[in-house]
Amino acid sequence: MAHHGSRAGSESPRMTPDGGKDDKRSRSKENGKRRSRDRDSKDVSAAGPYATHTIGERRSSVSKPARDFRDKPEPSPKRKKRKTAATPAAVREEAPTPDGAGELSTRSPSPVIDFDGLSRPVVGTRARLEEDEAQAQVRLDRMKGAVRTLLECVGEDPDREGLLATPERYAKAMLFFTKGYQENVRDIVNGAIFQEGHNEMVIVKDIEVFSMCEHHLVPFTGKMHIGYIPHNAVIGISKLPRIAEMFARRLQIQERLTREVANAIMEVLKPQGVAVVMESSHLCMVMRGVQKSTSTTITSCVLGCFERKEKTRNEFLSLIGVNR
Ligand SMILES: [Zn+2]
Repeated sequence: MAHHGSRAGSESPRMTPDGGKDDKRSRSKENGKRRSRDRDSKDVSAAGPYATHTIGERRSSVSKPARDFRDKPEPSPKRKKRKTAATPAAVREEAPTPDGAGELSTRSPSPVIDFDGLSRPVVGTRARLEEDEAQAQVRLDRMKGAVRTLLECVGEDPDREGLLATPERYAKAMLFFTKGYQENVRDIVNGAIFQEGHNEMVIVKDIEVFSMCEHHLVPFTGKMHIGYIPHNAVIGISKLPRIAEMFARRLQIQERLTREVANAIMEVLKPQGVAVVMESSHLCMVMRGVQKSTSTTITSCVLGCFERKEKTRNEFLSLIGVNR
């Protein structure tokens, strides 16, 4: 009945003045339990005022934009595993592991760099990359047929002189606009990573970007600014615009394009941090819909030290001239 006693003691200590001893004993038992719990929490707080933000946890702050889950620091044992195995995101996605990696990957449908660096491949991506000449011709013919249908549907005569070659032209243009599906990050970087011992911020700004809105299949164009802080290794400077180009030449939304570029650099270079800002104008907004031709859409993705340190982030923003 000790259980009952302790319950009565803790629930209504004033109503049992005779049971003072019992009360005390049961309370000290409780205290003992509590103390051991306290000790645990004291161990944490003994590590310093910032120890409450344990690894893997993050403060939510208005000044911090939403992040991709991959930026979340992993607990140390996992990080170890990652170092040795370097599990490609795509493989992780295909074979969800019981330790929660599979659960994580469901939060984002786009692996950064899969096993062959194609990034967010679908069946068609691979087919397009590996097709031979005959297959390419079949693809082109199908596209021409589709464009002819489009022309008919808008009320045109696809057989009039000015439009005769349009299906083929448009099909080829479309393949060019989406040529990023045939590129992969590893080929682009091609080993151009140099151990320079350089640890200062590197910025390439005003990279021209032409991409296609995946919702309307019309272009959005603008400028991208990429900055990173090396962890000794630097990447060939021309590779940054080429990585941006690869992801831009796919069907995109600006938010994902920004994030994919940042994540790709983070993965191939493993710097201290990456920041990507993109400002662009969407034809689907300018030519239709709200028809606001002067509006600019700005997206950003900051990873690593750019996310952790406001000072670093602000230095980047003022250098690219966005933080005015
Ligand atoms: Zn659109």
